[in-house]
Amino acid sequence: MYLPVVGLEIHVQVKTNSKMFCRCASQYFESDPNSHVCPVCFGLPGALPVPNKEAFNKAVKLALALNCKINQETKFDRKNYFYPDLPKGYQISQYDQPIGENGYVEIEVMGDSRRIRIQRLHLEEDTAKSMHAENDDTLIDYNKSGVPLVEIVTYPDFESIEEVILFSKRLKQIVKYLNISDAEMQKGQMRFELNISVKPDTMPVGELPNYKVEVKNIGSISVLEKVLAFEVERQSELLSKGETIKPQTRGLKGMSGQTVFQRSKETSDDYRYFPEPDIPPIRISDELIELLKASIPELPHQRKQRYMDLGLEGEQADIFVEDVLKGNWFDELLKLNSSREVVREAAKWIVGEISGQLEKRGDAISSMNLKQQDLLEIIEQMLSKKISGTIAKEVINIIFEEGGSAKEIIESRGLTQITDSNFVADIVKKVIDSNPKLVADLTKNPNVIKALVGQVMRQTQGKVNPKVAEEELKKSLGVE
Ligand code: ZN
Ligand code: MN
Repeated sequence: MYLPVVGLEIHVQVKTNSKMFCRCASQYFESDPNSHVCPVCFGLPGALPVPNKEAFNKAVKLALALNCKINQETKFDRKNYFYPDLPKGYQISQYDQPIGENGYVEIEVMGDSRRIRIQRLHLEEDTAKSMHAENDDTLIDYNKSGVPLVEIVTYPDFESIEEVILFSKRLKQIVKYLNISDAEMQKGQMRFELNISVKPDTMPVGELPNYKVEVKNIGSISVLEKVLAFEVERQSELLSKGETIKPQTRGLKGMSGQTVFQRSKETSDDYRYFPEPDIPPIRISDELIELLKASIPELPHQRKQRYMDLGLEGEQADIFVEDVLKGNWFDELLKLNSSREVVREAAKWIVGEISGQLEKRGDAISSMNLKQQDLLEIIEQMLSKKISGTIAKEVINIIFEEGGSAKEIIESRGLTQITDSNFVADIVKKVIDSNPKLVADLTKNPNVIKALVGQVMRQTQGKVNPKVAEEELKKSLGVE
């Protein structure tokens, strides 16, 4: 048996108006190629970079949210390498004094809390985009060149694929909650790099294999998951055949998760880092740290805990944490009523029936006809047995369809449950009389009672409490 050992590097484009070191607009998606460019992001001689304060503050805020220690004396460095998408011949990044170090993110793995340590968080600039044309020409679009990027590097703390995926989803949520980035992966706003090796399960915890395989440029969490599965299997197979694995960089084969050998990596790359001479070191004051700390909103794990404390199931809580619009709608409901019983029932209805209606209609929860007061009214009437679950569904459907208030709909359409026991007894008698075959089967198959209850419900358009109907049927038929 082999176990995966994984570390991640994540690049996130920081949402700002302008680029990292110039005034070009950084929202380039679907713009004409090379329409967001200037001498600075083209890397022309003599052009001088000026750091973007908004990007800088957002990076510090993210570092704080990831529990990093902030390097109050920080600076930018040049990372030198040659590539066509890098016009200056170097990337302005941060080397030995990154904005944040030694943080962690907590994830919940099968009910247990696990800490994934963050080694560092730094700020840098994105590269341009190369496009390979069919005639072997390479075209370069510099719109992306110089867009602010935060790079987050984890320790190789992941011991399962599940942990990597939970962490990636959680990090994406954090970034969105803080408005650091929209993290739209299909637009390249969040990208993953993987370092992965496997080790025999006999190797002590904390001990690392003597090689690692790097996979770059993974643009979706589902592809990340497939790559992990593919590499774990590929590497385990090689090792079990007694082969050794050399450190290497592998590329993606489409979206399949399969990887192909790109180059071996015997030594670590030498980027000849040196301090960026055009940008003076930056001091992060205590005041700024306090200010940014205070601006951190409730984070995903805190929100989840708040819902769990109210008695929600983990899965329901996860839905409200991930789908912020649904979570916000639920939070508005909590302001009106926070009784555990009501709140748990409300969560069930939002995740179930209401989500189903929204999906069916392509509506957004923020603009649907059903209001928090309506759902509360429906739940209260249900809990006090005035309406059945079937009727509750129907009322929700009517509101989706036509609007209106729950209270009015229930009253004006006479949907309240029939509690008159004489009336129920009458219906029950009718159902028994008209279903002699079912009644005869009852002695062989006690489940037949459910079919009879169904008949009573149909006869009354669901206005009898099914429990009451069942009791009345059993009484009339003399069964237990
Ligand atoms: Zn520019
Ligand atoms: Mn980087």
